[in-house]
Amino acid sequence: MTTPTAILIPGFWGEVIAPDNDGYDDARAVWNGTVDRRPRLIARCSGTADVTAAVRFARARDLEIAVRGGGHNVAGTAVCDDGIVIDLSAMRAVTVDPVERTVRVQGGALWGDVDHQTQAYGLATTGGIVSHTGVGGLSLGGGIGWLMRKHGLAIDNLVEAELITAEGDLIRASANDHPDLFWALRGGGGNFGVVSSFRFTLHAVGPTVMAGPVFWAAEDTTDVLRFYRDFVTDAPDELGNVVRLGTIPPSPGVSEELHFRPAIAVASCYAGPVEDGERAVRALREFGTPLVDLVGPTLYVDHQSGIDDTVPHGWHYYWKATNLTYLSDEVIDIIAEHAYHATSPRSYAAIFHMGGAVARVLRDATAYPSRDVEHNMSIDAVWLPEQDDTVRAKEIAWAREFLAALQPHSAGVYVNFLDSDDDASRVREAYGDDKYWRLAEVKAKYDPENVFHNNKNIQPGASAAT
Ligand SMILES: Cc1cc2nc3c(=O)[nH]c(=O)nc-3n(C[C@H](O)[C@H](O)[C@H](O)COP(=O)(O)OP(=O)(O)OC[C@H]3O[C@@H](n4cnc5c(N)ncnc54)[C@H](O)[C@@H]3O)c2cc1C
Repeated sequence: MTTPTAILIPGFWGEVIAPDNDGYDDARAVWNGTVDRRPRLIARCSGTADVTAAVRFARARDLEIAVRGGGHNVAGTAVCDDGIVIDLSAMRAVTVDPVERTVRVQGGALWGDVDHQTQAYGLATTGGIVSHTGVGGLSLGGGIGWLMRKHGLAIDNLVEAELITAEGDLIRASANDHPDLFWALRGGGGNFGVVSSFRFTLHAVGPTVMAGPVFWAAEDTTDVLRFYRDFVTDAPDELGNVVRLGTIPPSPGVSEELHFRPAIAVASCYAGPVEDGERAVRALREFGTPLVDLVGPTLYVDHQSGIDDTVPHGWHYYWKATNLTYLSDEVIDIIAEHAYHATSPRSYAAIFHMGGAVARVLRDATAYPSRDVEHNMSIDAVWLPEQDDTVRAKEIAWAREFLAALQPHSAGVYVNFLDSDDDASRVREAYGDDKYWRLAEVKAKYDPENVFHNNKNIQPGASAAT
């Protein structure tokens, strides 16, 4: 029997889901199927007023709080045991202002929601490369994607955010309102409150772009990466690139005999005229002997959802990550040696090419710390829920060993790629001491009791010194 929601949380008009309600197990599930937490309540908010009501309710009862945007964080911080989940998954409205070229996005929207609405006007902003990822967590950690070298990170396009504080107050953060908070929100994650809506700047993109992956055999990895290193050095800002090392996913356009064959791919997206994009990727496509070349004029929205099926909800995931300043020969050798040692054909490593507009924003302008690195790498172990602990152990060992080999070349880490066993020292590593301390001061001002700690946690000022 469903509990009447209005009675449970005063002033709350959304849906409250308790352990004995239908749908509880679906509502507590997040993207990473290894996460199995049992909150006391899930408060599925219908709007900003519900977020305020839920925060106040939780504070009055001293409940543990988790905040759910898209539910994609690999560490599963969107859900907690025995507390309340402030669930924004029903808050996905996206409103485009085509004249001002901005978009207002509710805190639980997914990138697919944003691309769908903005592309109707031929506009876009930098978002993640998988359409079912949440805008909330991705943006608050920085937000890397295909458009970043031309248009900056997601946070570089953030104009303002509406936020509910730990006290349950509704405030606005922008360059003029609470500028300290606005600085911290742009990279500091979900540490400072619940963002009920974001407003981002938009840019003309597509609707058709030159985009897609080229695959080469795994044996060609060293040659491809050496070529790629030089290729991206001269690449225009319009060209976004991601290297993927693993196997070829069984996707449309790939003949069956190539499915799950070990391979290196370079996927590109050119944020400009298709003819210019054709020229920009020509040398890449002509390099060596590709197994398959899927680059071509493509709808931007299709490209943005092109790899969705390779990382579906409910599979089991474990991630390691590091930034890399440069793809030296030594780094390339390490990558080539480790990339294909995973036993699961679904595991892969991805290397995002940074630079361009990301690097041109002053380092101190936002909390995001890693503007000077050329590459951002994640090592993603993936296995199926039905596979046993032996597979799990092997995949986790693969990711850990791969990272350990790269560690001497590490230049920090992207906070959004940290997993649950990355301890607090890696959060510090992600920000570096100077940013961490500044974030800790802002945290002490807006959330002194560390109410929002189910995240990549910044400890409030004074206690951070210990
Ligand atoms: C398949 C996949 C692809 C990805 N691709 C990219 C990519 O291309 N670029 C990139 O930068 N990252 C990428 N990521 C990483 C991604 O940025 C993080 O997983 C991020 O946390 C996802 O946000 P979410 O809202 O879905 O997560 P959730 O798990 O819902 O939230 C994670 C944390 O963010 C905070 N949070 C979320 N929403 C809000 C909100 N509205 N207000 C306050 N706090 C909030 C909370 O602290 C929460 O614990 C990817 C992740 C996955 C799983």
